Amino acid sequence: MSDQTYQPEHIEIPPVFAWPPRPKEALRYLTVDIMVPWGLFWIATAFVFWRVLTPEMHEMRSFSFGWVAFLWVRNALVLTVIAGGLHWWLYVRKSQNTETKFSRRWLAQGNARFLWGDQVHDNMTFSLVSGVTVWTLYEAATYWWYANGYVSAPAIADGPFYFLITLWAVFFWSTLHFYLNHRLLHTRWLYKVAHERHHLNVVTGPWSGISMHPIEHIIYFTVFLLWWVVPVHPVIIILTGLFQGVSPAVSHSGFDYVRFGGKWRIPAGDNFHNLHHRFFRVNYGNSLMPIDRVFDSWNGGSEEDMQRMKERFGRESGES
Ligand SMILES: [Zn+2]
Ligand SMILES: [Zn+2]
Repeated sequence: MSDQTYQPEHIEIPPVFAWPPRPKEALRYLTVDIMVPWGLFWIATAFVFWRVLTPEMHEMRSFSFGWVAFLWVRNALVLTVIAGGLHWWLYVRKSQNTETKFSRRWLAQGNARFLWGDQVHDNMTFSLVSGVTVWTLYEAATYWWYANGYVSAPAIADGPFYFLITLWAVFFWSTLHFYLNHRLLHTRWLYKVAHERHHLNVVTGPWSGISMHPIEHIIYFTVFLLWWVVPVHPVIIILTGLFQGVSPAVSHSGFDYVRFGGKWRIPAGDNFHNLHHRFFRVNYGNSLMPIDRVFDSWNGGSEEDMQRMKERFGRESGES
């Protein structure tokens, strides 16, 4: 705790899971809290990508270097714009200094645990070389599956309500999948060979989001496989990639809010996951679904939650 000066708001269980139900708040959560601004941004980007930056389905009936490489470049570019942009704004330009920064520490330099001793260069390498490649291969294989008619993509006009449901499903499925794969990665062997690399980032920055060992990437991007059996519009496939591949750049930004233009600020870092990077044994999932509450590993940052964590894990719950 010595490492922190900024005190973010405590994270509560989302009202969609409240009992007794709180329908008005739940509706607001689903339409505003999840969506504004980032949910809508990912959805809008997915539509643009579908219109102008995704090859035609008939072209993807068989694999070829050309269209898969095109997807790789597209994905690498969007990650670089978001992660690189946030990094430049917050860590190079230091536009808001440490305002709403979770940790007082900055990103590591001269630390032999990272490639070239440099956390940023290390994180960029694992994100772009392994992360974007594995993401792109799963995404390409999913299009190939649809292009060959193993599952047929429903048109939006034929079922607009179904399309809307699948839009929300991306966020909830990704969260459920994240809990499951992340819990698996914390088993002794997988942690040692794979997940430890992501946890080298005790203090995280935008490029830490998908800075993972290739084995973790192969597990993490299995999120696409649900769409091999549940038919969805291609926009949903793109959105899944953006949410899984790029939104971690925002959630790992290390700052609770990004301030711009003087008085404007948008939410950025996810303190729930930030606490996972600090304490390891809490918050395996995201706060969107209270799975950690069920398994008594929820830490929303309150004094009470901190105390519970200490009682449960004793000395081992100390900061890394
Ligand atoms: Zn993380
Ligand atoms: Zn972890």
